[in-house]
Amino acid sequence: MYNYIYYLRACGRTRSFRGAALTHILILKIGGIRVINEKMRELGSKRSTIRELFEFGKALAEKRGEDSVFDFSLGNPSIPAPKEVGEILTELISSTDPAVLHGYTSAEGALSVRESVARHIRECFGCEADATNVYMTVGAAAALTSSLHAVVCPDEEVIVLSPYFPEYKVFIEATGAKVKEVPCNTTDFHPSVPDIEAAINEKTAAIIINSPNNPTGAVYTEDDIKKIAELLERRCAELRKVIYIIADEPYRELVFDGRKVPFIPNYYRNTIVCYSYSKSLSLPGERIGYVFVSPKATESYSVFKAVCGAGRALGYVCAPALLQRLVERCQGMTSDLSAYRENRDILLSALTEYGYTVSPPEGAFYLFVKSPTKDALSFSEAAKRYGILLVPGEDFGMSGYVRLAYCQSRDVIMRSLPYFKALASELGILK
Ligand code: PLP
Repeated sequence: MYNYIYYLRACGRTRSFRGAALTHILILKIGGIRVINEKMRELGSKRSTIRELFEFGKALAEKRGEDSVFDFSLGNPSIPAPKEVGEILTELISSTDPAVLHGYTSAEGALSVRESVARHIRECFGCEADATNVYMTVGAAAALTSSLHAVVCPDEEVIVLSPYFPEYKVFIEATGAKVKEVPCNTTDFHPSVPDIEAAINEKTAAIIINSPNNPTGAVYTEDDIKKIAELLERRCAELRKVIYIIADEPYRELVFDGRKVPFIPNYYRNTIVCYSYSKSLSLPGERIGYVFVSPKATESYSVFKAVCGAGRALGYVCAPALLQRLVERCQGMTSDLSAYRENRDILLSALTEYGYTVSPPEGAFYLFVKSPTKDALSFSEAAKRYGILLVPGEDFGMSGYVRLAYCQSRDVIMRSLPYFKALASELGILK
């Protein structure tokens, strides 16, 4: 029989550095060799439903053939990166001293890269920005974890608007803080400002705003952002503290029908933008993005340093050097995103015709479909029998819906339609 001693180690916070406050519960097997963080073991052992479905799809394709699987589970871009990306990479590799090209950069990123990002922000959004506000990251995920660890302390709360990207919960809980879910309205999945107000209290450290949104495709209007900004300004003054907006923007360029995505630092000064090139340049596996701390934020320079410190504590060292050099030259460039809008139009009109209820997405590449059965899990299971992989909304903090990622080839989308129709017929909703 073994005895276990539970160690609680909390990396405390100081005023100047509020991040990296991780609570580790270590289990030490006395006289043994194994030391393990039980929470991390749990996290690593349990695949997300999205990954589970993705693996299920691969197994099904092997069994029944590729043609019988319609995998709408993963937000993996189907449109290739622009050809310039390949050309720039080739040129970088052939013309730069490899020791420099593949060497470490400064922890916050190479200066010329950060200058190029800052220039783009100034030119596109008319917002004050320079290299000292930009921290290059390993995609939006690392931008989010660095920002959260920088400004959130254990026992504080972070507001997320449900439905939300499932990793938020993992990232927030890793700081020792709690997730406070505030549901969006279910007509167009825009935020409810009175509900956000009701959720704010003296423990609120930040709110994550993700627009264009995963999983709903909602793009928040200027009016939405202004109202949230006004609310936060008022509550910050009343509570005598800063509440940050963490603007998670990997889908910034993926908007339809002429909609505009308001640049939140222009509306609320205590904003930290987390950006990624994963979707705009179709480079999700390459892992490159950045954090932009608004220079107008209270003690902006300290916040920026806290982001750097959090990145250091999390072991990021620096963002991939080659990819930094690439994005330095790709500012404002995107893949041909028009195929996503066409995919949206095809699926939206077919699914509506078959009797499904879907709110028209305004951006990103997801449909959030209302479950015709009493729960989304049974709907997702029924769809699986037709080879259609849809993620139940429970994972996104909202039951009764499934997410359909339409960043798929046109061929898969077209071939899936008769199966959606057959499924609708089985479920008794076919019009
Ligand atoms: N935030 C949202 C809303 C996402 O959908 C994703 C990825 O799908 C991320 C963050 C993570 O992006 P990245 O691949 O750049 O880490």
